[in-house]
Amino acid sequence: MISEILRVRTPLVSFHVLRDDAGLLLLDAGFVGGVGFLRRALVRRGWENEPIRGILLTHGHLDHTLNVARLAREHGAWIAAPRADAERYLGRGSSRGWGRIGGMLEAIGRPVLGFRPFVPDRLIDDGDEIETGCGLRAVSLPGHTEGHTGYYCEALRLLFCGDLFASFGRWSHFPPAILNADPGKMAASVRKALSLDLAGVLPNHADDAEPSEHLRRLRVLADRLTPG
Ligand SMILES: [Zn+2]
Repeated sequence: MISEILRVRTPLVSFHVLRDDAGLLLLDAGFVGGVGFLRRALVRRGWENEPIRGILLTHGHLDHTLNVARLAREHGAWIAAPRADAERYLGRGSSRGWGRIGGMLEAIGRPVLGFRPFVPDRLIDDGDEIETGCGLRAVSLPGHTEGHTGYYCEALRLLFCGDLFASFGRWSHFPPAILNADPGKMAASVRKALSLDLAGVLPNHADDAEPSEHLRRLRVLADRLTPG
């Protein structure tokens, strides 16, 4: 079943495609150039004629949402996204402390990069089930944004963990403070993710390691968090 997961890697951020009998589901939709990277990745996998029926978002940051409106329109795909980030899909949203700097960068980037606002067809809450071949359950992991959400596939014991951390070997790290809307919630979200029965995690900012290796790196990072 893991062969039915495709990772679309772009220079700044990756995203994932899931395939089942009904077609393709995107988990996030990439950043600059993402549409072209997606097209080429689908051709390489032989999935280019499969319908894209839905786009599911981990959170409302621009490097995950830039192409959502365009892809949804072109493919007639539904959009499902975390409720607490709803303002961000409209091109708004606020952050606290250092996170305001990231918010300012996004405000500059949206018009420059041609971001199109969108209203999701479905707003996702913690525990919601998403009907796919492998079955996904929404796991709310706030901190990076207020709505930041992972998606857990119980059958594969895999968590699509969004931007919970970045996984690049020895340089693995939690997102920098300027990119976190509510950093006080990060540690609890990491513990919540690691409390799941996991064989691996799939972060969006990551090298080509296996999901099990990403999980090992997350556990190393988590060990350094202050207990609480
Ligand atoms: Zn992010």
